[in-house]
Amino acid sequence: MSSSPIENVIIVGTGCAGLTAAIYAARANLEPLVIEGNQPGGQLTTTSEVENYPGFENGIDGFTLMDQMRKQAKRFGTRFLQGQIKKVDFGQSPYLISTGEKGFRARAVIISTGASPRLLGLESEKLLFGGGGVTTCATCDGAFYRDMDVVVVGGGDSACEEALFLTRFCSKVTLIHRRDELRASQIMQDRVFANKKIEVLWDTVVEDILGAEEKAVRGVRLRNTKTNKVTQLPCKGVFMAIGHIPNTQPFAGSLDLDEDGYILPVSGSQVKTRFPGIYAAGDCVDHVYRQAITAAGMGCQAAIDAERWLAEQE
Ligand code: NAP
Repeated sequence: MSSSPIENVIIVGTGCAGLTAAIYAARANLEPLVIEGNQPGGQLTTTSEVENYPGFENGIDGFTLMDQMRKQAKRFGTRFLQGQIKKVDFGQSPYLISTGEKGFRARAVIISTGASPRLLGLESEKLLFGGGGVTTCATCDGAFYRDMDVVVVGGGDSACEEALFLTRFCSKVTLIHRRDELRASQIMQDRVFANKKIEVLWDTVVEDILGAEEKAVRGVRLRNTKTNKVTQLPCKGVFMAIGHIPNTQPFAGSLDLDEDGYILPVSGSQVKTRFPGIYAAGDCVDHVYRQAITAAGMGCQAAIDAERWLAEQE
């Protein structure tokens, strides 16, 4: 590990935060090295239409947006490397980060590892995940459920977006939410309520997903939280959209994390950690806004801070 060259800045993750940081760091001649992670392009690559990223009057699909950002970062000299960071040592400078097989040294590090979809934690969910009919991505899997009944679990913008997208293929979409009001933005709620293919089941939780024996979803067992009444709803697909968990496990022993695992920045900054030269940007640190544009903004801040900090060290 000690023989690896010392990088100016390593960026971990390639969502909006990481790629924006790469564009800024590359344009500052820092020749950033980006470790891509196991979902290049991040969460937006699994989104259909992004309607609220400024500059695209008619929206842009998530994959294209991320592909453009990557090409833009590359144009200015960003180097990309496939790998999953497993271990870090921030106790010495240059800082050490490692995939397990390969180690890297850097004067500055920008962590933009994003967040992964949360699951309910049911045994049946685990058994049926992927090919069995439980998924977290309507954009990826929706077309497999043409003319079928499906359920979406959750009450936020993601759940509404998934439900609306699925109406393009499915005969009926039941949105299952644990409370009696949605968390989603008003515009998304309005679209859901106006769509005749979507039914919302309020105050309802999924107790089990049926079909584990056949390795194919055949329904869900539901419980009404107010009446405790248990019912079964036949369906062929279950789309989980109940939020996200920050991808910060490799940093748990080194950086300060909050109780949900989000990286805690130092007071007075959104992106600085308690280690000089180590920054965190996007969904691994932000549990409030979690938007493509705010992640991009944080990536920009982190790269500018890293550039200034590196200049001070010379
Ligand atoms: P979210 O806003 O955190 O919503 C998660 C939903 O899942 C909530 O309704 C929550 O219920 C429910 N939930 C959480 N844990 C649950 C459990 N164990 N069992 C059942 N339900 C559970 O997450 P999100 O929808 O993924 O959105 C994340 C961020 O991205 C938000 O800031 C959102 O605005 C943004 N986003 C924006 C767009 C857009 O603008 N087009 C699209 C997607 C996402 P409670 O409401 O009861 O807590």
